[in-house]
Amino acid sequence: MTFKLLFKNLVRGPLTEVAPVADEAALAELAAQVNRVARARLGRTLSIREIDAGSCNGCELEIHALNNIVYDLERFGLRFVASPRHADVLLVTGPVTANMREALERTHRATPDPKWVVAVGDCARNGGVFAGSAACVGGVSAVLAVDLHIPGCPPSPTALLQGLLALVESVSA
Ligand code: SF4
Repeated sequence: MTFKLLFKNLVRGPLTEVAPVADEAALAELAAQVNRVARARLGRTLSIREIDAGSCNGCELEIHALNNIVYDLERFGLRFVASPRHADVLLVTGPVTANMREALERTHRATPDPKWVVAVGDCARNGGVFAGSAACVGGVSAVLAVDLHIPGCPPSPTALLQGLLALVESVSA
């Protein structure tokens, strides 16, 4: 029985899905465009602080992908920063949990003006699959004024970049 199982596992293909192929050229163009517009409108590159207000971490995986060796966002001057005091954009994921509400508000207060709040993912819009839970206060707009919502569960890195581009394009120079 053990040998049969071992043989079966050796000959069959992987059970996981094949990873989608990233369109390198399109992504590079998109990221470079975000950087160009940010420099023109803000006079500097864009600094982003990510806040997990209670997500399942699916959205974080896609956001972290922006920094991996495939997307490597920093080569275009877009940076994730450790402190809200250095951020232009707060990228907020998840429904806002009761436990994270105050931390989110304090992070927002610590971010210098001008600042923009981007709600990432379906949960950040209205609580998503967690809507109605006693542990959640709702989407990000239940706590902060949201400038842009990027839909998806979770949104892809390309969708995240498109959202950031739409955000910087909306800023008047
Ligand atoms: S939108 Fe989807 S991936 Fe993102 S936190 Fe909600 S359930 Fe998770």
